Amino acid sequence: MKAHDGMYIGGAWRPAVGTDTITVLNPADEQPIGQVPAGTAQDVDAAVRAAREAFPSWAATPPAERGALIGALRDQLVARKDEIAETVTAELGSPLPFSQMVHAGVPILVSGSYADLAATYAFEEKIGNSTVYLEPVGVVGAITPWNYPLHQIVNKVAPALAAGCTVVLKPAEDTPLTAQLFAEAAHEAGIPAGVFNLVTGLGPVAGQALAEHEDVDLVSFTGSTAVGKQIGATAGAAVKRVALELGGKSANVILPSADLTKAVKAGVANVMSNSGQTCSAWTRMLVDSARYDEAVSLAADAAAKYGARIGPVVNAKQQARVRGYIDKGVEEGARVVAGGSESPREQGYFVQPTVFADVTPEMTIAQEEIFGPVVSIIRYEDEDEALRIANGTVYGLAGAVWAADDAEAIAFARRMDTGQVDINGGSFNPLAPFGGYKQSGVGRELGPHGLAEYLQTKSLQF
Ligand code: NAD
Repeated sequence: MKAHDGMYIGGAWRPAVGTDTITVLNPADEQPIGQVPAGTAQDVDAAVRAAREAFPSWAATPPAERGALIGALRDQLVARKDEIAETVTAELGSPLPFSQMVHAGVPILVSGSYADLAATYAFEEKIGNSTVYLEPVGVVGAITPWNYPLHQIVNKVAPALAAGCTVVLKPAEDTPLTAQLFAEAAHEAGIPAGVFNLVTGLGPVAGQALAEHEDVDLVSFTGSTAVGKQIGATAGAAVKRVALELGGKSANVILPSADLTKAVKAGVANVMSNSGQTCSAWTRMLVDSARYDEAVSLAADAAAKYGARIGPVVNAKQQARVRGYIDKGVEEGARVVAGGSESPREQGYFVQPTVFADVTPEMTIAQEEIFGPVVSIIRYEDEDEALRIANGTVYGLAGAVWAADDAEAIAFARRMDTGQVDINGGSFNPLAPFGGYKQSGVGRELGPHGLAEYLQTKSLQF
């Protein structure tokens, strides 16, 4: 794999200030595939200065021109889609077809949507005797995780650029090569120097320096709730804008009238894709007691089919963490009906696709985010109990409801404390706002709502 040994700052690859590096491993075989510099607070400072310098002229660039450059960035992502997919597979371990379709494909859709939105969004509105201008917030510090390495970068950078903000990105330690490819694409697209900058490095060093930097106006973070709380507190103390995209423990609610086979199969597939490393995954499957046993056997069969097709989890720490949760589930009395905590292979950070039955709502595996290929099937007696269980965690990111007709599913979904619900297998919409209720986060990404995060209002009265 190709790796740059510098940071992308002010439109060029520059040597890092320090000499520390991060070695990137392929989780499928545990072999090193590249090395990137581990940035320090000084690298972050240089990147923030470049972003600040570039801000006035980027903010003053007509939105349609910004849109055209984001369109050129999209075209670069199209031209590099094979290299992107191969790089994500090498760093993250997801099977190549999934990397091609989702990891490389979705960012093309999202960047394309912001190319259009920049050109068409109403950056000015009239309210009574006022004209309200929607102006860019300023310099954005973007901190992203490894689970959808390019998607989460594009979800922040594309709307920030469309709004007229400039950006410093600190990507996850496990997937910096994909971030470097993105920087190359931005460069080739002609994004002006300093508008997008990249500093690779460790979270508690480079990430923290970015979140704490006094010249960053808005911090946009995706990752764990624990780090998100810390970043939120830092931003709060500095009275700085913050967007947090955190964990989830979403419910897949299968109502008694639903097509059980379809709902169970879709539910298992939803969790197993990306080896369960999806914050919006429907990791709790809720089934009425009359059809509980049937659902358990359907889910066990569906999970077993993933055995050979599933990729590894991202690193040894995640593997140990997921296996620990599976052991905890057994200890607390849940019943493994597929998979288990033993590693299925000698080499690589693999975890078996696992299904638990007899899970009760208060168990650890039904409350905490596992971030691995593990589904918990929970029994309910009536709809009110299903709702209490669905809403009974600190999270509220996503979910699904299945019923014989949409109206019944919609009525249930409206009572769920969560930001996104798929009705009867509804498909992904790159323009729909994505984000959490409760401890799943603050703010929204994607589409016009995602653009609004990077804008502030100024009212002029006449
Ligand atoms: P993390 O929150 O530690 O890392 C996410 C990003 O934050 C990375 O870029 C990291 O370098 C950075 N970071 C870490 N500590 C920081 C700090 N003190 N200040 C600033 N930035 C910091 O997540 P992780 O360790 O990669 O994964 C741990 C768990 O987080 C997972 O098991 C999962 O439950 C959850 N997670 C959720 C998502 C999501 O999309 N919601 C994504 C990844 C991980």
